[in-house]
Amino acid sequence: MSNHLLIVEDDELVQSLLAAYMQNEGFKVSLATTGKEMLACIDSEAIDLVLLDLGLPDEDGLVLARQMRARSSLPIIVVTARKDQKDRLAALEIGADDYLTKPFDPEELVLRVRNLLGRAGDGDTQEALRNRTETFRFMNWTLDIGAHSLIDGTNNKVSLTRAEFNLLAALAKAPNRVLSRDYLLDAISQDADSPTDRLIDVLISRVRKKIEANPKKPEIITTVVGCGYKFSARIE
Ligand code: CA
Repeated sequence: MSNHLLIVEDDELVQSLLAAYMQNEGFKVSLATTGKEMLACIDSEAIDLVLLDLGLPDEDGLVLARQMRARSSLPIIVVTARKDQKDRLAALEIGADDYLTKPFDPEELVLRVRNLLGRAGDGDTQEALRNRTETFRFMNWTLDIGAHSLIDGTNNKVSLTRAEFNLLAALAKAPNRVLSRDYLLDAISQDADSPTDRLIDVLISRVRKKIEANPKKPEIITTVVGCGYKFSARIE
């Protein structure tokens, strides 16, 4: 079964090149040139991942990413000509899973898409097999690695982005150990060669808002000043 990508891009040349490349890589591709088309497509098709240009004619991509994130945890990769670090952080802060600036190497984009879609599990490695059955219970939470879900005490699923989920999983797998930001960056398979420690801080803060009773006084993910973060809740 091929994964279904939605390419949101108003530059026709870029759009058609990208579409041809991704189709050639075995993906099913849908296209949108405006925010309106994008939202319509998400509602009517089973999209697995969105490639989102920030500069669209009708709506700012950051606003769209936020709207999308409010409704689902559909993976989003922002692909844009904006090189500003502030834009990059803003995109990640509102829930985009990854960020790539134009011009980019299409091969790299494919790698990141596959990463986000979790293709790593296809090989039935020991890690994948173990992940499929691994579950962590802490406080009132249940983190199910295989199902990629976080369930609260009243059995409701909490929506986490791929990066947030991977971050929480990496922490829960190493309870009471201090994990450095570098380690955590690797664990979420983000763009390792570019910034930043700040990305981990942003993700940590988002995960805390979702799982901590008081995000300002976290009890599950604690900060170890100068070192990193630690999963401090007792795993049952
Ligand atoms: Ca554009």
